[in-house]
Amino acid sequence: MATNTLLVADGRVLTPRVDVVDADVLLDRDAGTILAVGKDVATGADPDARLDASGGLVIPGLVNAHTHVAMTLLRGYADDKPLDAWLQEDIWPAEAELTAADVRAGAELGIVEMIRSGTTAFGDMYFHVPEVVEAIEAAGLRARVGHGVVTVGKDEAAARADVRESIEVALEYDGAADGRVRTAVMPHSLTTVRESLLREAVDGARDAGVPIHTHANETRDEVDPIVDERGERPVEYADDVGLLAESTFLAHGVHLDEREIDLLAARDTTVVHCPASNMKLASGIAPVQRLHDAGVTVALGTDGAASNNDLDLFDELRDAAMLGKLGADDAAAVPAAAAVRMATSGGADALSLPGGRIEAGAAADLAVVDLDAPHLAPAHDLVSHLAYAVRGSDVRHTVCDGRVLMRDREVLTLDTERVVETARKRAVDLAARTE
Ligand SMILES: [Zn+2]
Repeated sequence: MATNTLLVADGRVLTPRVDVVDADVLLDRDAGTILAVGKDVATGADPDARLDASGGLVIPGLVNAHTHVAMTLLRGYADDKPLDAWLQEDIWPAEAELTAADVRAGAELGIVEMIRSGTTAFGDMYFHVPEVVEAIEAAGLRARVGHGVVTVGKDEAAARADVRESIEVALEYDGAADGRVRTAVMPHSLTTVRESLLREAVDGARDAGVPIHTHANETRDEVDPIVDERGERPVEYADDVGLLAESTFLAHGVHLDEREIDLLAARDTTVVHCPASNMKLASGIAPVQRLHDAGVTVALGTDGAASNNDLDLFDELRDAAMLGKLGADDAAAVPAAAAVRMATSGGADALSLPGGRIEAGAAADLAVVDLDAPHLAPAHDLVSHLAYAVRGSDVRHTVCDGRVLMRDREVLTLDTERVVETARKRAVDLAARTE
């Protein structure tokens, strides 16, 4: 019998079937798991602590399956440009100036923003990964992190060293923060890492027993060179180098043809849809309904804050449902429940992390959404509200691994004021150094 319990009391609960029931949720804070969901689950259990969910909806903690969390320092730094020019003229020169302390500050800023908007797990590709891990450890959420490898413009030795670093970081930090941090080997994309080194990354990930994460088929400029040079589509090329596996998660998947979609389904490879980033950079519209129809698991990601420009996954939920309809030319495509699945169980499955479901035995990762706001009245259909009307600021409590990270909109694990102030100062200094 668990002796350190927390009762999330008197709310309604989103079930794994994506319907809503009146229920309490009893958590085991030591094990970090959900003990029971239902009415009267606390009877006889006498919980050690309570979290008031009255007037609220208890949902699985949201999963932001693709981001570059420390890019919050570059929020609003450069906008309104296509991907290639935006990266080369603005983002990469600024990132070259980022110090480890900057990455720590940017990661904390992004993490505070995610906790406040109900996200409890994220997938992160960046550099200075040890600082990102420290921020995660302090903040209490969970993540799958990795060092992003770019080999263009590097000589062979420097390029190989970058691949080695991604593998070494994955080995060193897998299981950190009491197991809340898991890792992956993360070549940046199929066009920014040359073939021999993609193969080394794949081998390294297999030996380390960790997944591969990369950007794929984000823009036509990423697809055409591969088709021209190799006479095959990027996902087919990825398969040739051994990159597609059940644990692999690919960011974007915007420009996919039917053969590629079938190949992703056959390999059980997941796709992280980043609708806001795709719209902002005019990358295109991912075929989300077709991916669903083919049986591909699709998760949601904000991508970095510089291409979004926030890390509120509720915005992504709405964008995914809306853009999915536009892309399919069908208002019935990507319905609310499908979008909610993408943000919860789809994300957990894509990252191979616990969470994403409110049920006995699952990880105690959840958020309580306050339903009192005028923009959430009336409440005909709460699943519809989650997809179309709820905002991140409606989240009242956030819990990860059985630990309360935010109670009544106050983040308990990080000092929000200090985090924001530090990030502001460092962003100003960074911009000055980059000029
Ligand atoms: Zn990205």
